[in-house]
Amino acid sequence: MAELWHTLTGEETLIQLRSTGDRGLNQAEADARLREIGLNAIVAADKTPWWSIFLSQFQDFMVLVLIGATIVSFLLGEVGDAITIVAIVIMNAALGFIQEYRAEKSVETLKQLTAPEAHVVRDGAVQTIRAEELVPGDVIELEAGDRIPADCRLIEVWGLKTDEAALTGESQSVRKTLAPVEDPDAPVADRRNMVYMGTAVSHGRGRAVVVQTGMQTEMGTIAHLMREAVEDQTPLQRRLEHLGKILVYLSLLIVLVVVVTGLFRGEPLYQMFLTGVSLAVAAIPEGLPAIVTIALALGVQRMIRAHAIVRRLPAVETLGCTTVICTDKTGTLTKNQMTVTAMWAGDKIVEPSASATQDPTVRKLLTSAVLCNNAVVAPSRGHDSDKAQGDPTEIALIWAAGDSGLSPQDIAREYVRQGEIPFESERQRMAVLAVDRQNHKAVYVKGAPDVILPRCRFVERADRVIPMDRRLQQQASEVNDRMADEALRVLAIAYRPVRGDESEDQWEEDLVLLGLVGMIDPPRPEAIHAIKEAKRAGLRTVMITGDHPKTARAIGEKMGMLAPQDEIITGPELDRLTDEELDERVEHIRVYARVSPPHKLRVVRAWKAKGDVVAMTGDGVNDAPALKEADIGVAMGKTGTDVTKEASAMILTDDNFATIVRAIEEGRAIYDNIRKFIRYLLSCNVGEVLVMFLAAFFGLPLPLLPIQILFVNLVTDGLPAMALGVDPPNPGVMDRPPRSPNESIFARGLGTKIAFRGILIGVSTLLVFVWSMSIWGMGLREARTMALGTLILSQLFHVFDARAEDRSFLEIGLFSNIWAVLAVASSIAMLVAIIYVPALSTLFKTDPLSAMDWLVVILASGFIQLLAAVRDVVLRPIRRVVRGTAS
Ligand code: ATP
Repeated sequence: MAELWHTLTGEETLIQLRSTGDRGLNQAEADARLREIGLNAIVAADKTPWWSIFLSQFQDFMVLVLIGATIVSFLLGEVGDAITIVAIVIMNAALGFIQEYRAEKSVETLKQLTAPEAHVVRDGAVQTIRAEELVPGDVIELEAGDRIPADCRLIEVWGLKTDEAALTGESQSVRKTLAPVEDPDAPVADRRNMVYMGTAVSHGRGRAVVVQTGMQTEMGTIAHLMREAVEDQTPLQRRLEHLGKILVYLSLLIVLVVVVTGLFRGEPLYQMFLTGVSLAVAAIPEGLPAIVTIALALGVQRMIRAHAIVRRLPAVETLGCTTVICTDKTGTLTKNQMTVTAMWAGDKIVEPSASATQDPTVRKLLTSAVLCNNAVVAPSRGHDSDKAQGDPTEIALIWAAGDSGLSPQDIAREYVRQGEIPFESERQRMAVLAVDRQNHKAVYVKGAPDVILPRCRFVERADRVIPMDRRLQQQASEVNDRMADEALRVLAIAYRPVRGDESEDQWEEDLVLLGLVGMIDPPRPEAIHAIKEAKRAGLRTVMITGDHPKTARAIGEKMGMLAPQDEIITGPELDRLTDEELDERVEHIRVYARVSPPHKLRVVRAWKAKGDVVAMTGDGVNDAPALKEADIGVAMGKTGTDVTKEASAMILTDDNFATIVRAIEEGRAIYDNIRKFIRYLLSCNVGEVLVMFLAAFFGLPLPLLPIQILFVNLVTDGLPAMALGVDPPNPGVMDRPPRSPNESIFARGLGTKIAFRGILIGVSTLLVFVWSMSIWGMGLREARTMALGTLILSQLFHVFDARAEDRSFLEIGLFSNIWAVLAVASSIAMLVAIIYVPALSTLFKTDPLSAMDWLVVILASGFIQLLAAVRDVVLRPIRRVVRGTAS
């Protein structure tokens, strides 16, 4: 039976499924069916179970070698060593596991957030639910841009076309009809009265009843053919992987030198083997990729709180490089809260009011605006957005009618709609065919004056229809300009009486103009602030709008994004430019008006050709190609369609321009954090390797034992590096120009800083070691404890320097990242424990240190901080005072 829905009429389908076209199912029935049939979901491919993530922590080559080494030490009777190594390996794995598990979880949360929704009719009211909760018998509404959530039989279509490439591979969109298809075996592509899960509405609107859900859908039956999208690595992750490989080889080479010289000096083979392996483990920054993922994933969570959902991790990085933001106007820069403030019908401009409708043309204008309208507004006092559903432009028209003493509900009852050509940005107009009780049929049209006025052959004035002449044309377009100059969105309203049967092609020809309506859409105050901030951060903001150029200019000026030399260009003007001409001018064009989605694609390409990194917003279906082409496609969470969201790298849940700027700031901060812990980790590793290497080079005994090296690695690489990954943004991230996407991670002096600090850590540790033995005459074991303390503390102090890119740690504030303080404190506690807890000190072969010893260790590891503190706390204030008295 299941395959034969297309042979039934819509009515028969509804009866079979015990549903009705206008009321849908009732909630209780829908709940019961959901319990019986289950979720409307394609069962996802197997997830990685947690234990597999845990086990994968041990698959690293060096860790395997280390485990091998443990077995060797166990066999040689070094049981203590073996147990300690195992404990350290497990703690390391646990850290790695937590890192990866968190990353995985946050990706899952993201998927939940971006789960598709459906507009379903239940108990006679349209509501938005998660597509997963649909059941057979549910009646759903479809409009351009919707991803179809289940297999459905259509019961109403208004110019509905779908894109079925996902299912049939056919790239042309398919026009949908209602008539039953006779052939029961008709292939899916020929079942014109059905729509299928996973395909998308490309044009028009419709209503349909769900017939199959979940794995029973056509898509479900081929689910095994679909592969889960592979999580793409970010360019930075790829580069770091490459860097990691180089570091592995380099470290192994140095380790080899250390081991060989050790052997020549007569150290025991077993000891040197273990030293080599431990040093390799310490030197190789195996935590790097996981911490990068953590920094990215946690940043993504912060962005969610700031209303931006990043759908792909690489976007986080690209965000930080953004140089141009191309943004829609309506709803993104403005509030998308339209209010009609001016109407022109006849010779004067009036505001919506009861007295306005004494003019019969104004009455007819508003009546037409209510008829050519898909918004649903419940009767209420004032303008209550909670009681209105639909396009704000259309809601504003219904409110205007209400404010003028008309009853939109009565008008709706008077007329029966017989057809519709839906609004599309490209067409900039909408038409509805309706008939009244006296059987007068007419098409009611509304749209941008520039497209409606040329289609008007008549004008209505005080119940009289007169021919449109030059003078009247002129007058109308002057009024249009005047309204647009005041930042109003202007719509022309017209109609056309219909006699007999006319094809849709004729509906919008030879119209009778009723008048113009102007509506205000106030700017978002936070967007004005964000534009300023973007400018400071070296970003350019470009407005792209379907509105009139004058409206766009007025808004642009109000928002402070237009300078006198900036150009405004319209879609038709853009069409006349060649690609070369556009490339030349693109930098000066700040506003694109009267554009349709294909223009957006050209704008993105032109900026990209200049080497810019472009973020582009969009909401309609046809914006998807431009969003895909942009470096950062930004979809609107509220007004955006499914197709747009799927094409985007980021979704704004509040549709707000300011959120884009926030996300860019976060993107920069995340990159900064990655630089911070790379600086930290690498200089620490350089320090560790250098101590061992120099000792071997100068023929000294090993400054650190294998277990001690592993311990250093555990307490310095784990928590402190993670704490740097969640560092709050440095003040001033938005005060510098965007970085180039090709910039090396070591750019802006980072490489030098790493080398310098690494050498400092290595040399000071070695000096403490040498001095302890030669000058203070300590034994080897105590000198090693001194070296261990110096090496660990100098790394821990470095955490605070790494946080501050070009300031001192005191300027940034010691406690501005509490995680860093806690991580450092816990590492210090562990160091103290292995020195003073007798059992541990036996295992780690340490000796207790005196207060004097500690003073030396602290001075040797922290003198850089001391110098900085002296400069900040003593010298700066003195200099300020001196400068103050001098002036
Ligand atoms: P932006 O790109 O700034 O978000 P927009 O996408 O809202 O602007 P469109 O919706 O494409 O712009 O509108 C373009 C023009 O089409 C408007 O200036 C208006 O004249 C007309 N228009 C907008 N909405 C409707 C509608 N519902 N019915 C008829 N015409 C409309």
